[in-house]
Amino acid sequence: MALLPILVAPDPRLKLKAVPAAEVTDEIRQLLDDMLETMYAAPGIGLAAPQVGVSKRIIVVDISRDEEPKAPLCMVNPELVWLSDEDAAYEEGCLSVPEHYAEVVRPAAIRVAYLDRDGKKQELETDGLLATVIQHEMDHLDGILFIDHLSSLKRNMILRKLVKSRRQVPEPVS
Ligand SMILES: [Zn+2]
Repeated sequence: MALLPILVAPDPRLKLKAVPAAEVTDEIRQLLDDMLETMYAAPGIGLAAPQVGVSKRIIVVDISRDEEPKAPLCMVNPELVWLSDEDAAYEEGCLSVPEHYAEVVRPAAIRVAYLDRDGKKQELETDGLLATVIQHEMDHLDGILFIDHLSSLKRNMILRKLVKSRRQVPEPVS
């Protein structure tokens, strides 16, 4: 297992459309394990492969609370097969947009089809926080960040702050 470096916006690799994994190989299972370890260490409740620089349609999610047993979900090639008409709003954050949070409106319930870590086809119907996190992580597979759901004014303000906070080397004075 290994901790993977998490890309931070506006890294252009976060804007790429990821490609499906041809099959769930040992290499993919290793990636899933590394992504889970990286997510738990961050700590976060979801992580998508593009966030660690791997342009594949793979996400991991675990919304269990500290005192609860871990409940990792590994999804390879996830596809939304149903969305509810009803919407829900959640305050979202993202490991690739550190220290910024904003309310995002998404369908309240979903059904998602995916391959599990054994390569078996699975379907999950869910709502609440889990539905939101899965949609947030799946957005990453299409190069979409939660800030892309905000007004451009808000988004640009957050991106400017991220660029500023990452600039560690002082700018030369001339
Ligand atoms: Zn995210």
